[in-house]
Amino acid sequence: MTLKLYNTKTRSKEIFTPIDAKNVRMYVCGPTVYDYAHIGNARPVIVFDVLFRLLRHFYGADHVTYARNITDIEDKIIARAAKEGRTIRDLTEETAKVYEDDVAALGALVPTLVPRATDHVAEMLTLIDTLVEKGHAYAAEGHVLFDVTSMADYGKLSGRSIDDMIAGARVEVAPYKKNPMDFVLWKPSSDIEPGWDSAYGRGRPGWHIECSAMIEAHMGTTIDIHGGGIDLVFPHHENEVAQSVCAHGEPLANFWMHNGFLQVEGEKMSKSLGNFRTIHELLDEWPGEVLRLQMLQSHYRQPIDWTERSGKEAQGTLDRWYALTDGVEATKEAPEGVLKAISDDLNAPGAIAELHKLASAGDGAGLKTGAQLLGFLEGTAEAWEAAKLNRSSVDPMVVEALLAERTKARAAKDFAASDRIRDELKAMGVEIMDGAEGTTWTITK
Ligand code: AMP
Ligand code: ZN
Repeated sequence: MTLKLYNTKTRSKEIFTPIDAKNVRMYVCGPTVYDYAHIGNARPVIVFDVLFRLLRHFYGADHVTYARNITDIEDKIIARAAKEGRTIRDLTEETAKVYEDDVAALGALVPTLVPRATDHVAEMLTLIDTLVEKGHAYAAEGHVLFDVTSMADYGKLSGRSIDDMIAGARVEVAPYKKNPMDFVLWKPSSDIEPGWDSAYGRGRPGWHIECSAMIEAHMGTTIDIHGGGIDLVFPHHENEVAQSVCAHGEPLANFWMHNGFLQVEGEKMSKSLGNFRTIHELLDEWPGEVLRLQMLQSHYRQPIDWTERSGKEAQGTLDRWYALTDGVEATKEAPEGVLKAISDDLNAPGAIAELHKLASAGDGAGLKTGAQLLGFLEGTAEAWEAAKLNRSSVDPMVVEALLAERTKARAAKDFAASDRIRDELKAMGVEIMDGAEGTTWTITK
C-alpha cells in the first residue's frame, strides 16, 4: 500500500518515498517550555504521533527516527523565570516534565530524539558562521541577521513575496537591520540574561536557528518530513528553510506537513476570553484517550472545534469499543480499510469510520488491531473503567449497594423500585447493563 501525504511545499498530495527506507527521518517543532501547553498544542503531538506509528508500521520500528525538540531558551522563558523569581533551568525542567507526562497520557509514543536547544548552541554558532561566510548573514550591533535578499527563493514555502510580507506583517523595524524582513540568528544578552560567548559577543540564539541546527546535528542536511502547526509556516519554517538551504545547498525537508488550528466551543482560545484549556487540566476531567479520539475525529488539515459534547461522544465510542474487545487478542494484519484510509494523507476520520464498521460487524479482533494502529485500545477494559472512575465523583461502594437493593427489588418483582434505582444511578452518571453473568456498570458523562 502506498502512503500519500499532503506537502505544503508543493501544495499537493504526493506519494511518500523516503530518502533511506532504513532510516526514515521526521522532525516536528516542539514546545517552548515556560507554561503548561494548551489543548491546541496537543494537536500536532497527536497528529504526528499517528504518522510516526504509520511510518513504523510501513518501514519497521527500528527504521524511523522521530525528533521533537524542546525550546528551552527564548524570551518568554526568560521573562517568566524572572517574574516567578526562579532559575530558567528550574522553570524549563519542570515545564518539560509536565509536558512529557501529559502527552504520554494522550497516548503519544516517546519520540526517538528529544533534543534541547541549550545543548546545541555550539552547532547553532557553527551554522551562523557558515551563513556569514557565504554572505547570507551579517553581524550588526551584537546581532547576527539573516539577509533575506540573499536568497532568491525566500518566501517560497509560504507562498509570499518579500513585498507582501512587509505589507502584511508587523515586522520589527530595527536600525541595525538592512531590510525589515531580515530575521535574527543571534542577539546580545545583558548581564542578567542567559548568554553564550561567541565571535559576535555574548548572546543567545534566535528561535529559528535552533531547529535548523538540531536537525543537522541529529538527522543530517535533508530529512524526509518536517511538521508543525499551520501558524509555523511563516515565519518559523520559512526561516528554517532559508538558514538550512543557504548553508548546505540542499533542501531541508522533502515533505512539509502542517496541522490546522483548534478552537474551543467555537471560539479562538485566549486567556482573555477565559476559554484557555491546558492539556494538564483537561486530563483531570477526561481520560487522555478521549482527548486523542476527539482530536482525530477531524482531518488534521481542517480546523477543529474542541467541545464538551465531542468529549462525551468520544467517551461513549470508547466505552463501546472497550466492551467489544475485552479479552480479545489483536490480529496480526491491520484491517485493510483502516490502513487504506490512514495512508491517504492521514485520513483519521475515515479510519475511525472503518473502526465503527468493524465494531458494528462484531469483529473485535479487527477493531482492536485497527484501533491500535492509531494508538487506541492499548490498555485493558478494566483500566479504561478505572480511568473514568478516577475522574468521577461516583463512589463504587454506593453503586454496589444500590445494585444489591435493585437485585432484591427485582427478585420481589417490585419493578417500580428497580426502575427507580436505575434512574438514580443514571443521574449519578452510572449506566447499568443486565447480562447473563449479572449486572455490570460503567461511568458515563
Ligand atoms: P507553540 O508553543 O506556540 O510554538 O506551539 C507548539 C505547537 O502547537 C506548534 O506546532 C503550533 O503550531 C501548535 N499550535 C499552537 N496553537 C495551536 C492551535 N490552537 N491549534 C493547533 N495547533 C496549535
Ligand atoms: Zn522549528
